[in-house]
Amino acid sequence: MDALRHLKQCHPRGIAISQFHTSSPASAKQHYKLLVLGGRTGGIAMSSRMKRLVGAENVAVVEPSEIHYYHRPTASLMPSGVKWVKSKVQEINPETNTVRTDDGTEISYEYLIVALGLELHYEKIKGLPEGFEHPKIGSNYSVQTVEKTWKALQDFKEGNAVFTFPNTPVKCAGAPQKIMYLSDAYLRKTGKRAKANVIYNTSLPVIFGVKKYADSLWEIVKKRDLQINLRHNLIEVRADKQEAVFENLGKPGETKWLLSPPLASLLSQQGT
Ligand SMILES: Cc1cc2nc3c(=O)[nH]c(=O)nc-3n(C[C@H](O)[C@H](O)[C@H](O)COP(=O)(O)OP(=O)(O)OC[C@H]3O[C@@H](n4cnc5c(N)ncnc54)[C@H](O)[C@@H]3O)c2cc1C
Repeated sequence: MDALRHLKQCHPRGIAISQFHTSSPASAKQHYKLLVLGGRTGGIAMSSRMKRLVGAENVAVVEPSEIHYYHRPTASLMPSGVKWVKSKVQEINPETNTVRTDDGTEISYEYLIVALGLELHYEKIKGLPEGFEHPKIGSNYSVQTVEKTWKALQDFKEGNAVFTFPNTPVKCAGAPQKIMYLSDAYLRKTGKRAKANVIYNTSLPVIFGVKKYADSLWEIVKKRDLQINLRHNLIEVRADKQEAVFENLGKPGETKWLLSPPLASLLSQQGT
């Protein structure tokens, strides 16, 4: 908060050598009072808020993508007056208060906000990402694979429907459970639930981080006959055999096979 206060105090208009439009290629050298790396939920929210403190002309956002995941053009999300540098950051040099982008532009800053999000690393699981070629394996964390879950659910006939929560940072801790509840509801609605084992294998030692909600969720999973396995981390997918292999984090060295899962909504990512 001290940094924010200082930033507000030292807002002499026009100190920053910046440009006023929102989307042009980066020039050779630029300076901004506030530089934000990443132009999505975090970066857009912060630049929108901070421009009120320091003036929009003193704020720039570095973001290479033209389109947001939710199919909105980045230009429509960028706060007005804030400069959009349409490049990828290659280097951050905190000693000189500069960053370098992939087109060689050096941008200096007084304050830097890093909002680069998480990267997906499916290759950390043996058998992925090539396993995604199989119709019964999907992941809701990637725009490339998310639609497979719905197709797999529609094609589901009987067997195990397995949902996983990885042993890494995740973009949304609720998403793996949400899709399990939605799938359970869909299977009930379509009369297929009696032939399904709905399984949630989570690397976490709890069903949810907040006890009050965890208590309610335990009641719900019991009522809906959803099988919860704590400390179960997905380590391998054998797409051709329809097998998923999990390590028991509570008992190192112990692995478990889940046979023939007709639907596996695999959710895995690793923080950068
Ligand atoms: C299936 C799913 C369901 C979710 N449900 C919810 C929900 O119900 N409620 C909720 O609050 N949240 C939910 N989330 C989480 C929410 O989407 C994320 O928390 C949010 O998108 C994170 O925003 P971010 O700006 O930190 O990162 P990101 O959205 O990942 O954005 C990072 C940006 O940085 C850019 N970038 C990366 N590298 C560079 C680079 N080198 N140079 C320049 N730019 C770069 C990327 O292009 C990207 O645009 C969900 C997420 C998923 C996947």
